[in-house]
Amino acid sequence: MRRFLVAGNWKMNTTRESGSQLAQALVKEVPTENQAVEVLVCPPFPYLTTIGEIVGASGIGVGAQNCYHEKPGAFTGETATEMLSDIGCRSVLLGHSERRHILKETDVDINLKVKKALADGLQVVLCVGELQSERESEQTETVLNTQMTGGLDGIDASAFDQIVIAYEPVWAIGTGLTASPDQAESAHQYLRNWLKDHYSSEIADATRILYGGSVKPDNARELLSQENVDGALVGGASLKPEQFIPIIQAAIELSAN
Ligand code: PEP
Repeated sequence: MRRFLVAGNWKMNTTRESGSQLAQALVKEVPTENQAVEVLVCPPFPYLTTIGEIVGASGIGVGAQNCYHEKPGAFTGETATEMLSDIGCRSVLLGHSERRHILKETDVDINLKVKKALADGLQVVLCVGELQSERESEQTETVLNTQMTGGLDGIDASAFDQIVIAYEPVWAIGTGLTASPDQAESAHQYLRNWLKDHYSSEIADATRILYGGSVKPDNARELLSQENVDGALVGGASLKPEQFIPIIQAAIELSAN
Protein backbone atom coordinates (compact mmCIF):
# COMPACT_ATOMS: atom_id res chain seq x y z
CA MET A 1 0.00 0.00 0.00
CA ARG A 2 1.55 3.29 -1.12
CA ARG A 3 1.23 6.22 1.27
CA PHE A 4 -0.21 9.36 -0.33
CA LEU A 5 2.11 12.34 -0.58
CA VAL A 6 0.60 15.80 -0.93
CA ALA A 7 3.27 18.39 -1.71
CA GLY A 8 2.89 22.14 -2.07
CA ASN A 9 5.17 23.94 -4.50
CA TRP A 10 5.13 27.58 -3.48
CA LYS A 11 7.29 28.51 -6.49
CA MET A 12 8.65 32.09 -6.30
CA ASN A 13 5.78 33.26 -4.10
CA THR A 14 5.14 34.43 -0.53
CA THR A 15 6.94 36.80 1.79
CA ARG A 16 8.44 35.71 5.08
CA GLU A 17 5.23 36.90 6.74
CA SER A 18 2.71 35.37 4.35
CA GLY A 19 4.67 32.11 4.14
CA SER A 20 4.81 31.92 7.93
CA GLN A 21 1.06 32.43 8.18
CA LEU A 22 0.49 29.74 5.59
CA ALA A 23 2.74 27.29 7.44
CA GLN A 24 1.07 28.12 10.76
CA ALA A 25 -2.34 27.42 9.24
CA LEU A 26 -1.13 24.04 8.01
CA VAL A 27 0.34 23.10 11.37
CA LYS A 28 -2.95 24.02 13.01
CA GLU A 29 -5.20 22.21 10.55
CA VAL A 30 -3.29 19.10 9.53
CA PRO A 31 -3.96 16.55 12.28
CA THR A 32 -0.71 15.69 14.08
CA GLU A 33 -1.91 12.11 14.42
CA ASN A 34 -2.08 11.96 10.61
CA GLN A 35 0.18 9.12 9.56
CA ALA A 36 -1.78 8.21 6.47
CA VAL A 37 -0.62 11.05 4.26
CA GLU A 38 2.83 12.55 3.91
CA VAL A 39 2.61 16.34 3.64
CA LEU A 40 5.41 18.43 2.21
CA VAL A 41 5.80 22.15 1.54
CA CYS A 42 8.43 23.58 -0.78
CA PRO A 43 8.94 27.29 -0.05
CA PRO A 44 11.45 29.55 -1.80
CA PHE A 45 15.06 29.15 -0.58
CA PRO A 46 15.17 32.29 1.62
CA TYR A 47 12.25 31.05 3.71
CA LEU A 48 13.21 27.39 4.11
CA THR A 49 14.65 27.87 7.59
CA THR A 50 11.75 29.98 8.86
CA ILE A 51 9.15 27.58 7.51
CA GLY A 52 11.15 24.62 8.82
CA GLU A 53 11.05 26.13 12.30
CA ILE A 54 7.30 26.70 12.08
CA VAL A 55 6.42 23.19 10.92
CA GLY A 56 8.90 21.83 13.47
CA ALA A 57 7.88 18.42 14.72
CA SER A 58 4.37 18.61 13.20
CA GLY A 59 5.20 15.88 10.71
CA ILE A 60 4.91 18.29 7.78
CA GLY A 61 8.14 18.12 5.78
CA VAL A 62 10.01 20.94 4.12
CA GLY A 63 11.52 20.59 0.67
CA ALA A 64 13.48 22.78 -1.72
CA GLN A 65 12.46 23.57 -5.28
CA ASN A 66 15.90 22.99 -6.76
CA CYS A 67 19.53 22.29 -5.85
CA TYR A 68 22.94 22.22 -7.51
CA HIS A 69 24.88 19.07 -8.31
CA GLU A 70 28.29 20.12 -7.00
CA LYS A 71 29.71 20.08 -3.51
CA PRO A 72 29.87 23.47 -1.75
CA GLY A 73 32.39 25.71 -3.46
CA ALA A 74 32.76 28.45 -6.04
CA PHE A 75 29.30 28.29 -7.65
CA THR A 76 27.85 31.74 -7.16
CA GLY A 77 24.12 31.77 -6.68
CA GLU A 78 23.69 28.03 -6.33
CA THR A 79 22.53 25.94 -3.37
CA ALA A 80 24.23 22.71 -2.34
CA THR A 81 22.35 19.65 -1.12
CA GLU A 82 24.62 19.70 1.94
CA MET A 83 23.12 23.09 2.82
CA LEU A 84 19.60 21.79 2.39
CA SER A 85 20.25 18.86 4.73
CA ASP A 86 21.99 21.20 7.14
CA ILE A 87 18.82 23.26 7.62
CA GLY A 88 16.55 20.23 7.96
CA CYS A 89 15.21 20.05 4.43
CA ARG A 90 14.27 16.49 3.63
CA SER A 91 13.20 16.70 -0.01
CA VAL A 92 13.90 18.46 -3.27
CA LEU A 93 11.79 18.97 -6.39
CA LEU A 94 13.82 18.32 -9.53
CA GLY A 95 12.94 18.68 -13.19
CA HIS A 96 9.94 20.94 -12.63
CA SER A 97 8.58 22.10 -15.98
CA GLU A 98 9.33 25.73 -15.15
CA ARG A 99 12.97 24.80 -14.67
CA ARG A 100 12.98 22.69 -17.83
CA HIS A 101 11.25 25.23 -20.06
CA ILE A 102 12.05 28.65 -18.57
CA LEU A 103 15.48 27.95 -17.06
CA LYS A 104 16.35 25.52 -19.89
CA GLU A 105 17.44 22.63 -17.67
CA THR A 106 18.15 19.49 -19.66
CA ASP A 107 17.70 15.87 -18.65
CA VAL A 108 21.47 15.72 -18.21
CA ASP A 109 21.41 18.65 -15.74
CA ILE A 110 18.49 17.10 -13.91
CA ASN A 111 20.16 13.71 -13.73
CA LEU A 112 23.28 15.22 -12.13
CA LYS A 113 21.09 16.88 -9.51
CA VAL A 114 19.09 13.69 -8.90
CA LYS A 115 22.31 11.77 -8.28
CA LYS A 116 23.72 14.38 -5.92
CA ALA A 117 20.48 14.78 -3.95
CA LEU A 118 20.09 11.02 -3.55
CA ALA A 119 23.71 10.62 -2.50
CA ASP A 120 23.12 13.20 0.23
CA GLY A 121 20.03 11.42 1.52
CA LEU A 122 17.35 13.77 0.21
CA GLN A 123 14.02 12.56 -1.09
CA VAL A 124 13.81 13.47 -4.78
CA VAL A 125 10.51 14.40 -6.41
CA LEU A 126 11.33 14.02 -10.10
CA CYS A 127 8.85 15.91 -12.27
CA VAL A 128 8.08 14.79 -15.80
CA GLY A 129 5.42 15.86 -18.27
CA GLU A 130 4.61 16.78 -21.81
CA LEU A 131 3.79 20.07 -23.52
CA GLN A 132 0.37 20.61 -25.06
CA SER A 133 1.85 20.32 -28.57
CA GLU A 134 3.49 17.02 -27.59
CA ARG A 135 0.17 15.65 -26.31
CA GLU A 136 -1.61 16.80 -29.46
CA SER A 137 0.97 15.05 -31.63
CA GLU A 138 0.64 11.89 -29.49
CA GLN A 139 4.16 12.20 -28.16
CA THR A 140 3.24 12.02 -24.46
CA GLU A 141 4.72 8.59 -23.82
CA THR A 142 7.82 9.32 -25.89
CA VAL A 143 8.44 12.48 -23.85
CA LEU A 144 7.85 10.66 -20.56
CA ASN A 145 10.21 7.90 -21.64
CA THR A 146 12.93 10.43 -22.55
CA GLN A 147 12.56 12.33 -19.28
CA MET A 148 12.50 9.17 -17.15
CA THR A 149 15.43 7.63 -18.99
CA GLY A 150 17.45 10.85 -18.81
CA GLY A 151 16.53 11.85 -15.27
CA LEU A 152 17.12 8.40 -13.81
CA ASP A 153 20.18 7.47 -15.86
CA GLY A 154 22.60 5.50 -13.67
CA ILE A 155 20.25 5.44 -10.67
CA ASP A 156 20.40 2.17 -8.81
CA ALA A 157 17.30 0.27 -7.74
CA SER A 158 18.39 0.67 -4.12
CA ALA A 159 17.74 4.45 -4.32
CA PHE A 160 14.04 4.10 -5.01
CA ASP A 161 12.97 4.43 -1.40
CA GLN A 162 14.07 8.09 -1.82
CA ILE A 163 12.42 8.69 -5.20
CA VAL A 164 8.95 10.00 -6.00
CA ILE A 165 7.81 10.68 -9.56
CA ALA A 166 5.46 13.58 -10.30
CA TYR A 167 3.53 13.51 -13.56
CA GLU A 168 2.84 17.11 -14.44
CA PRO A 169 1.46 17.76 -17.92
CA VAL A 170 2.88 21.19 -18.73
CA TRP A 171 -0.38 22.33 -20.29
CA ALA A 172 -2.12 21.83 -16.95
CA ILE A 173 0.34 23.72 -14.76
CA GLY A 174 -0.96 27.05 -13.55
CA THR A 175 -3.46 27.16 -16.40
CA GLY A 176 -6.61 25.99 -14.66
CA LEU A 177 -6.73 23.10 -17.15
CA THR A 178 -6.53 19.74 -15.42
CA ALA A 179 -5.83 16.37 -16.96
CA SER A 180 -9.01 14.34 -16.82
CA PRO A 181 -8.83 11.46 -14.33
CA ASP A 182 -8.52 9.11 -17.32
CA GLN A 183 -5.69 11.10 -18.88
CA ALA A 184 -3.86 11.21 -15.55
CA GLU A 185 -4.41 7.51 -14.89
CA SER A 186 -3.20 6.54 -18.33
CA ALA A 187 0.05 8.54 -17.96
CA HIS A 188 0.55 7.17 -14.44
CA GLN A 189 0.03 3.62 -15.71
CA TYR A 190 2.62 4.26 -18.39
CA LEU A 191 5.08 5.53 -15.76
CA ARG A 192 4.44 2.56 -13.48
CA ASN A 193 5.02 0.17 -16.36
CA TRP A 194 8.16 2.08 -17.22
CA LEU A 195 9.45 1.47 -13.68
CA LYS A 196 8.55 -2.21 -13.99
CA ASP A 197 10.35 -2.57 -17.32
CA HIS A 198 13.46 -0.65 -16.27
CA TYR A 199 13.67 -1.79 -12.64
CA SER A 200 11.27 -4.36 -11.19
CA SER A 201 7.66 -5.04 -10.26
CA GLU A 202 8.53 -4.40 -6.61
CA ILE A 203 9.89 -0.94 -7.41
CA ALA A 204 6.98 -0.16 -9.72
CA ASP A 205 4.52 -1.17 -6.97
CA ALA A 206 6.27 0.74 -4.22
CA THR A 207 7.14 4.01 -5.99
CA ARG A 208 4.73 6.86 -5.57
CA ILE A 209 3.59 8.73 -8.67
CA LEU A 210 2.01 12.11 -7.92
CA TYR A 211 -0.22 14.08 -10.24
CA GLY A 212 0.36 17.82 -10.64
CA GLY A 213 -1.43 20.39 -12.75
CA SER A 214 -4.17 22.67 -11.41
CA VAL A 215 -5.12 20.34 -8.55
CA LYS A 216 -7.87 22.06 -6.55
CA PRO A 217 -10.25 20.97 -3.79
CA ASP A 218 -12.97 20.27 -6.35
CA ASN A 219 -10.93 17.87 -8.50
CA ALA A 220 -8.51 16.39 -5.93
CA ARG A 221 -10.73 13.57 -4.75
CA GLU A 222 -11.40 12.22 -8.23
CA LEU A 223 -7.75 12.45 -9.28
CA LEU A 224 -6.52 10.85 -6.05
CA SER A 225 -9.06 8.05 -6.48
CA GLN A 226 -7.29 6.77 -9.59
CA GLU A 227 -5.50 3.51 -8.96
CA ASN A 228 -2.07 4.77 -9.96
CA VAL A 229 -2.27 8.29 -8.52
CA ASP A 230 -0.44 8.33 -5.18
CA GLY A 231 -0.71 11.97 -4.27
CA ALA A 232 -0.56 15.47 -5.65
CA LEU A 233 2.01 18.13 -6.38
CA VAL A 234 0.07 21.34 -5.93
CA GLY A 235 1.17 24.79 -7.06
CA GLY A 236 -1.33 27.65 -6.90
CA ALA A 237 -3.74 25.98 -4.49
CA SER A 238 -0.92 25.25 -2.03
CA LEU A 239 -0.64 28.99 -1.36
CA LYS A 240 -4.13 29.13 0.10
CA PRO A 241 -4.78 27.12 3.26
CA GLU A 242 -8.49 27.04 2.47
CA GLN A 243 -7.61 25.18 -0.75
CA PHE A 244 -4.56 23.16 0.26
CA ILE A 245 -6.04 21.76 3.47
CA PRO A 246 -9.12 20.24 1.76
CA ILE A 247 -6.77 18.53 -0.74
CA ILE A 248 -4.83 17.01 2.18
CA GLN A 249 -8.13 16.06 3.84
CA ALA A 250 -9.30 14.33 0.66
CA ALA A 251 -6.11 12.26 0.67
CA ILE A 252 -6.53 11.41 4.37
CA GLU A 253 -10.12 10.33 3.79
CA LEU A 254 -9.25 8.22 0.76
CA SER A 255 -6.44 6.48 2.63
CA ALA A 256 -8.91 5.40 5.28
CA ASN A 257 -11.02 3.54 2.66
C1 PEP B 1 3.25 22.96 -9.96
O1 PEP B 1 3.80 24.01 -9.82
O2 PEP B 1 3.92 21.93 -9.85
C2 PEP B 1 1.82 22.93 -10.27
C3 PEP B 1 1.26 21.78 -10.50
O3 PEP B 1 1.15 24.13 -10.29
P1 PEP B 1 -0.44 24.36 -10.34
O4 PEP B 1 -1.04 23.47 -9.28
O5 PEP B 1 -0.64 25.82 -10.04
O6 PEP B 1 -0.91 23.98 -11.70
